[in-house]
Amino acid sequence: MIPLKDKVAIVTGASRGIGRATAITLARHGVRVACVGRDDNAAHEVVERIASASGQAFSIHCDVRDEWSVKRTVEFVLEQHGTVDIMINNAGVGIHGEVEDYTLNDWHTTIDTNLTSAFLFCRAVVPIMRARKSGRIINVSSGAGRNGIAGYGAYCASKFGLIGFSESLAQEVRSDGILVSSVLPGSTDTQFGKRIPEDENAERSERARLSPFEVAEAIASLCESNPNAWISELVIRPLVVKPKA
Ligand code: NAP
Repeated sequence: MIPLKDKVAIVTGASRGIGRATAITLARHGVRVACVGRDDNAAHEVVERIASASGQAFSIHCDVRDEWSVKRTVEFVLEQHGTVDIMINNAGVGIHGEVEDYTLNDWHTTIDTNLTSAFLFCRAVVPIMRARKSGRIINVSSGAGRNGIAGYGAYCASKFGLIGFSESLAQEVRSDGILVSSVLPGSTDTQFGKRIPEDENAERSERARLSPFEVAEAIASLCESNPNAWISELVIRPLVVKPKA
């Protein structure tokens, strides 16, 4: 296990859900966390919660789709902490819709938020990590990055794409001590997909979900895993337990 104390991490989408839980969990391990998002109040609440437990974090307002905003975010973290050890590309959106009714705007929003953002952050942090011959990049994909789902074409395209991007980047940087991993969580109990209608046919009792902190613990354990044993992909599923009748 590699101690995480005083490592510097950027977590995108840290204002809610899995990103929030990941920021809090990494801070518990002693990581200095840059919490990236657009909802300043929510991000501030995360930072306060971390500080109240004697952790170190700060929030950065950033639209992850915006090239300049990403560049400025990484520069700011460098100014504050001098390096970036861990990059968690987690920010994401899911906009439901079948292909024939899907707008180009929703397509671009999905691809830019879920995929292009990871390219922008990785492009910015890789030179920093390469210079130090170490670093961890974790890209949060999804089970929808392996299996197509009706009504989720753009989302699945972005998450399949993120896995392909991660595998390619991993091969480019592995000889420089940078470990790139994809994380594929199953259904997780967050506000994600509020715009996605409920699956009318799903059995309530079978829709067991992970908690965001369960996903966050798995991400943290990836960060502290042996760097000589690269875990390229981590699939996390809820262990379904049907409630007693
Ligand atoms: P969530 O609760 O909706 O949180 C999404 C986060 O992404 C928010 O913090 C949001 O922050 C951020 N975000 C969205 N657009 C952004 C933008 N343009 N710029 C900056 N930040 C942006 O969702 P979640 O469930 O935690 O999902 C996190 C990741 O896990 C996503 O990539 C999702 O695809 C993946 N995932 C989720 C599930 C699930 O069942 N929940 C399963 C598998 C994979 P702001 O609103 O502050 O910008």
